[in-house]
This record gives sequence, structure tokens and C-alpha cells, in this order.
Amino acid sequence: MSNTDYEIVMGLEVHAELSTKTKIFCSCPTEFGAEPNTHVCPVCMAMPGALPVLNEKVVEYAVKAGLATNCEISRNSKNDRKNYFYPDTPKSYQISQYDKPLCENGYIEIEDDDGNPKRIGITRIHIEEDAAKLNHNEFGSGSLVDFNRSGVPLIEIVSEPDLRSSGEVDRYLKKLKSILEYIEVSDCKMQEGSFRADVNVSVRKRGETKFGTRTETKNMSSFRAITREIEYEAERQIDILEEGEKIEQETLRWDDVSGKTFSMRDKEDAQDYRYFPEPDLVAIRLSEEYIENIKNNLPEMPESRRERYINDFKLSEKDARLLTASKYLSNMFEAAEKICGNAKAVANWLLSDISRILNEKELEPEAIPFTAEHLAKLVELIEKGTISSAIGKKVVEELFENPKDPEEIIKEKGWIQISDEGAIKEVVEKVLSNNPQSVADYKAGKDKALGFLVGQAMKETKGKANPQMLNKMFKEAMQ
Ligand code: ADP
Ligand code: MG
Ligand code: ZN
Repeated sequence: MSNTDYEIVMGLEVHAELSTKTKIFCSCPTEFGAEPNTHVCPVCMAMPGALPVLNEKVVEYAVKAGLATNCEISRNSKNDRKNYFYPDTPKSYQISQYDKPLCENGYIEIEDDDGNPKRIGITRIHIEEDAAKLNHNEFGSGSLVDFNRSGVPLIEIVSEPDLRSSGEVDRYLKKLKSILEYIEVSDCKMQEGSFRADVNVSVRKRGETKFGTRTETKNMSSFRAITREIEYEAERQIDILEEGEKIEQETLRWDDVSGKTFSMRDKEDAQDYRYFPEPDLVAIRLSEEYIENIKNNLPEMPESRRERYINDFKLSEKDARLLTASKYLSNMFEAAEKICGNAKAVANWLLSDISRILNEKELEPEAIPFTAEHLAKLVELIEKGTISSAIGKKVVEELFENPKDPEEIIKEKGWIQISDEGAIKEVVEKVLSNNPQSVADYKAGKDKALGFLVGQAMKETKGKANPQMLNKMFKEAMQ
């Protein structure tokens, strides 16, 4: 029996760190990358007697996320204690939300594998505190704890088990990430762990109505790894079922090097978190005006930006969609367009060479090291004929390595286009005398030969010759 007899079912639990200035229950900064254990106080270190105070911004950001994902917002909500013992949790419990999350019953629209619109249900969005970071294996034996992350606010976004392929999961996560970026509640930096997912996977025979037993792979923070994990895990489960055996409900860990999942703990020691209402915090009551006010101040979302790009800048639907998928990319597009006025060219550079380099380097658009001004300048230099677009490609590569004014780059590298008639004529003559066969071919009506000769002249000038002038002079010389 082949894999196509099975259907994969997935549901995701996404943790996003909120970009509030301070932590959820104290006034320590949330900033990433500080010296370990410098952003701490008695509250987030769980000193006896220290009491939490809920950061109102956390509620506001979670409500924003709920409204942007079509959720119902609870007027009455509360915090709960989730008890567990682990060195990353100094209180021995995490303050989270159990039966009264802030947001419920939402959805996000994505495209299925055939390109048709599909709604993925959002079960709930709740607020909670992040745990400290354990650093294993870096210091010989043992682990060190960094409490800077302890108490950084998170929202957990739990989806319904509506996802049916790794492609759907990829699009769901990218859409969710883009929504959170648009409403500016999380920077979603995956490499810093600000956006990470627990991936639940099960398989079932096609036509079966009951779900299969799921496994849950914790803390995935790269799109590529998630796709690989799902494909590996589904395959593994299908093999087990095909052997006539049962899937065990387990918590797994993904190892990117071996490309395999490993068991962390099984159902036998499934944890009883002994949830109960957090007695040190008051209930959360939200007024209609409070929710209305947040709703009315939601920023422009990807869909409406997309429409605007199609109407105002005459971009294709596909280009508009790709640009607006990332708020950062789309902001950069708008800023550069404003300076140089050439929307098409700016979009092209962002979606071709720049996106390709980001892909190769596995970087998010936020990691583009140069500015919108640099990009606009590049477009202008090509428009003015100072450089060819072939050189433009080299400038983009250089901008990633050594970001600065493209004009300086081309001066330093000597990449300015040769438009001097005498200089071009010299090259044309040299290429003509070195390639008599191509000249004969051209004269015999083979137009392709012209392209070859221009190519040779480009090689000769390291891409710097003005291509229009080359074309013209070759044609004249071979008349
Ligand atoms: P827990 O909090 O213990 O992980 P939940 O019931 O909250 O359990 O489910 C967590 C996630 O697992 C949800 O995103 C849900 O959609 C997904 N899920 C539940 N059942 C299945 C299943 N059979 N196959 C795949 N995903 C599932
Ligand atoms: Mg879970
Ligand atoms: Zn603190």
C-alpha cells in the first residue's frame, strides 16, 4: 500500500514572543541578547514574597492578535498556574491561561495545495510567560540557566487539526507570522526563538473519519525544518501502521542533522499540570470600548496592501502577494518606490535577486543589511545608464557583503558602464576580428550570432559595456 492511501493531519501550537518593552509581570526589559542574568528582578527570579503585576500591553497585544485572526474576545478572562518542576521555571509553575483564554474560535485563511482558499481554525490564543533559557553542553558538563527570558510575554496560538499537508502548514505559519508582524505585536524573529511552533502530526487512512494518534514535536523554529519534520514523521507513522502496529502518543524532538525525530517523553509520564486560578492576579475584565478601540486602530493588513499595490503600482497579483507577505519587505518596497518612483524595478529587485540571496542564506527579509535608499539608488543608476543591469546584480551581491551607497561601490570596483564610443568601438573591432565565423553566420542570416558577439564583448569588458551601444555598433559593422 502506498503513502497516498493515507492522509496527514496536523495542528499547530505557535508561541510568539510579544514585543512589549517590559516583561509580563515585572518591569525588566525584554530585549534579546543581553549578558545572561542581567534582565532580572525578584519577580522574574521567583524570590519568596515577590508578587506579579500584569503588564496591560500584553493584554492589548493579545487582543490585537485575536482580532486580526477573526477570534472572539473574552470579556472575562483570567490567569492560571500551570505547575511543573524544571530548572527553567524558577517558581515551579508557569503563569498561563487554562479555561478562559483571551481569544477563541478564530480562523486564518490560506491556500490549499490546489490554490483554493481554505480556512484554518484558531482554537484559542492565550497569554503566558516564557521560561528561562537553559544552555546545554556549552560549558563542559552541566547546564547554565539564563533568566533574562524568564517572564518575557508570549501568546500561544493553538490551531484546530485542520492542516493536511506540509505545504498547508508552511503557508499557515507564514501567514500567521505576517499577520503578527503587520499588527506589530511580535518581531517573529525565528533565529531568536520569538516565533516557534509545536507541531502535532497524525495520519489516517483516506476516508477514515476518526483522527489517528498524534505525536507532538516541540519548539520548531525554522520553516525548512518543519517541512522536513512533517514529511519524516508522517512516513514513520505510516510505516508503523503498515507493520500492523500502533502509534504511541509521544512528545518528540527534531534533530536537524540526522533529519529524524526522537522521543522526549511518552504518554506514560504525561504531566498533570494541576492547573488552578492564579491567586496573585486579579481577573481580566475587558470593556466593549476597550475592544472597539483596539479594533478601530488595527493597521493596514496584507490583503488591503496587496490590493493597493495592484491598483496604484500596477503590480501583478503574484508580485503584490509576495511583497506584502512580509511587512518588512513591503515597507522597504514602499520606501524605495517613494525615492526613485519606479515601482516595477524596485519590486523586481526585491523579488528576484534579493529574495534569491535571502533564500540561499536562509535569512528573513529583516536581515537585509542595506537600506531602501541604497535600493532606490541602484534603480536610479541603472535607469541613468551609469551601470547595466548585469552590473546591478553584482551591486546587489556586494550590498549584502558590504552595504553602502551603490554609487561608491561602483566607483570603488570600477563598474561604471562604458558608454564612450571610442572605447566601445575598439572592443567591437577586437571581437569581430577574433570571431570571423560568427560574422559569416550573421551575414548568412543567423541572428543568434549577434547575441554571441555581444556576449563576447561583455566578457571582454567584464560586463561594463553599454549593451544598446554594442548592439548598434556590431550591426553597423556587419552591414
Ligand atoms: P495539548 O495542549 O496537550 O498539546 P491540545 O488538545 O490542546 O493538547 O492539542 C494541541 C494541538 O494538537 C492542537 O493544535 C490540535 O489541533 C492538535 N491535534 C489534536 N489532535 C490531533 C490529531 N489527532 N492529529 C494532529 N493534530 C492534532
Ligand atoms: Mg501541546
Ligand atoms: Zn523581572
